[in-house]
Formats: sequence, C-alpha cells, structure tokens
Amino acid sequence: MVKVLINGYGSIGKRVADAVAMQKDMEVLGVTKTKPDFEARLAVEKGYKLYAAIPERKPLFEEKGIEIEGTIFDVIEEADIVVDCTPGGVGKDNLKMYKEYKVKAILQGGEKAQYVEDNFNALWSYDRCYGKDYIRVVSCNTTGLCRILYAINSVTDIVKVRAVLVRRGADPNDVKKGPINGIVPNPPTLPSHHGPDVVSVIPELEGKIFTSAVVVPTTLMHMHIIMVETTGTTRDNIIESIEKTPRIITVSAEEGLNSTAAIIEFARDLGRMRYDLNEIAVWEESINVVDNEVFLMQAIHQESDVIPENIDCIRSMLEMVDDKMKSIEMTNKAMGLLK
Ligand code: NAD
Repeated sequence: MVKVLINGYGSIGKRVADAVAMQKDMEVLGVTKTKPDFEARLAVEKGYKLYAAIPERKPLFEEKGIEIEGTIFDVIEEADIVVDCTPGGVGKDNLKMYKEYKVKAILQGGEKAQYVEDNFNALWSYDRCYGKDYIRVVSCNTTGLCRILYAINSVTDIVKVRAVLVRRGADPNDVKKGPINGIVPNPPTLPSHHGPDVVSVIPELEGKIFTSAVVVPTTLMHMHIIMVETTGTTRDNIIESIEKTPRIITVSAEEGLNSTAAIIEFARDLGRMRYDLNEIAVWEESINVVDNEVFLMQAIHQESDVIPENIDCIRSMLEMVDDKMKSIEMTNKAMGLLK
C-alpha cells in the first residue's frame, strides 16, 4: 500500500482523499488543514489523520477540540507521494519543501506548467509521467478537452481545434467570486490560455488549437463548444469512439438531460457523493460532422473530473501499474464511474 499525503483539504483535496481511500493499492497517510474549521472536524470524524499545514497554527486546532496529530513536518517523510491541493500559486511555493524532503508531489491545474517535469492526463501522458517526481494534473477544463480530443484523435487526424469555454463563475461553496449578473470575457484577449495548457499535455497540437473563454453566473458546471477540423471522419465514427473512451459519457437532451442543471440532477440521482460527475458529458444531439469538421458540446463538472486523474497520476509516478488502461480501469471501478 502506498502512502499518500494530501496537502490542502479543500474542494479538490477532500475528493482526492476520498478517492485514494477507495483504492485497494493506496491509503491516505493524512490530510492537512490551515484552519480548524468544519472541514477539519469532518476529516477527523471520517477517520483521516489531520496535520497542521502551517506549524504555528497547531494550537488553534487543539483550542477548538479538533484532534490533530502534528504538523506536516511530522509526517512528510513517511509519505510516498504528496498530492498538493492548495489554492493556485501555493503549490509552486510548496515544491521547495517537497524537494527538500525528497518526496514526490503532484500539483494541480492552478499552477503553471513550467514548474513541473510534465503535465498529466491519464489518456495522453500516463507513460510520459511514469516514474517522474513532480507532475501537474491539468485543470478541469484542460482535462475535459484532452479527453474528448483523445476520442476524436483515435479515429482521425486532427488538423485544427477551436473551442469556446463557458466557465462557471464560482464553485458552489464560494461566496466571494462572481459574476452574478453578467457574462465576462475572461480572458478578454484571444486566444485564451486554455489552448497552450492543452498543448502542455498534447505537444502535437502546438499551433493547432485556439480557445476563448467567458465566465457566466452559474456554479454547477463548465460547458465547452468544440469544433475540430480533421482529415476525415463521420458522425458514427465519432460516437463510436466516444463510447470506447473512458470517462466520457453521452447524454440526451431529448431524454431530459437538456442543461447542466439536469446533468447535475442525474449525478444526484446516481447517488454520487457531493453530486460529483467525474465523467465528461457530451450532448449526443450536438455531435455533428460537416466537411470533415467535428462539432459537439460537452459539460464538465469542475470539482470532480480531475479526481480520477490524480489517482492514475499517483500510479504512474510511483510505477505501480505500467499500463494506463489498466490503471484507469482500476480507478474507475473503485470509484464507481459509469465507464
Ligand atoms: P480550495 O480553496 O477549495 O481548497 C484549497 C485548500 O487549501 C483550502 O482548504 C485552504 O485552506 C488550503 N490551503 C491554503 N493554503 C495552504 C497551505 N499553504 N498549505 C496547505 N493548505 C493550504 O481550492 P480548490 O478548488 O480545491 O483548488 C485547489 C487546486 O486545484 C488549485 O490549483 C485549483 O486551480 C485546482 N483545481 C480546482 C478546481 C475547482 O473547480 N475547484 C478544478 C480543477 C483544479
């Protein structure tokens, strides 16, 4: 059993901890918190060993009666790998600590690609990241784009990718971000940074992918409108390939899954913890091919699509399973994904 330390127990961190706990070949060594809040209390109630991420704050947990084992420095040497789930920008500062303690670490999509050895998506770069020490699991949007491009690339050659990202304004627990009454071009410059982020995983797309993004007043999911020029394919080929690609499902507007709200209701009806949908949902009706150009729309559950990727990234970096599809299957089965 490999020992995984989760540094930063927020939206991504708590999901990574639960996903690690579900696997047969890894265990949660501990989780860290900066504040003695309800998440810290619940982490302990769930049975996770809690450590103060900032040593001076350890007494604050004790004052609140939250059981704390020590500080991150009491546990870091025992870890086989740290999954850093701190807010964007903090992970790169933490890299110094991971290197000093000679522990492997995974950073998240809020960090820049330049600080790590490579960038992870299970379908595209599992083999490249095998045995590496410092890797970034790319963002929720980049993960969604990489998955669908894998499905398309499996049946044809990609000439050019255009994608419009309609991004959620904030996560559901966030009262500080917006907008609440407008549509914000973000970034206002074109193309957006999302294309280069995809290239960090798929270098073959350099100069071939152009993205733009707006932020809208919703918290549930992102949506992507995607146009991919290919050397030739058919709608049936694309549908068949999507069906074969793990972690992408098709949904039917006609059947009532006609909005991100309905898709989240679907996840709730599936009984998913925190209504997570780790799979990307592609609208069946949207899939079209005109003059060799593929068109489709997909929904991305921002808080959860990267979670199974973190699990596969652990297996790749620690050389636990040498076949990406085997790791994907193990993760999916343990987490109860649809495919
Ligand atoms: P979050 O704010 O929900 O959680 C971050 C946690 O880290 C909080 O509990 C915070 O208290 C803690 N923290 C802050 N400073 C710390 C430190 N120095 N040491 C340890 N813990 C610290 O953030 P999140 O949404 O979980 O995002 C984490 C990372 O995942 C970011 O890089 C983000 O860009 C990326 N990401 C987020 C989403 C999303 O939709 N939420 C999706 C994909 C990737």
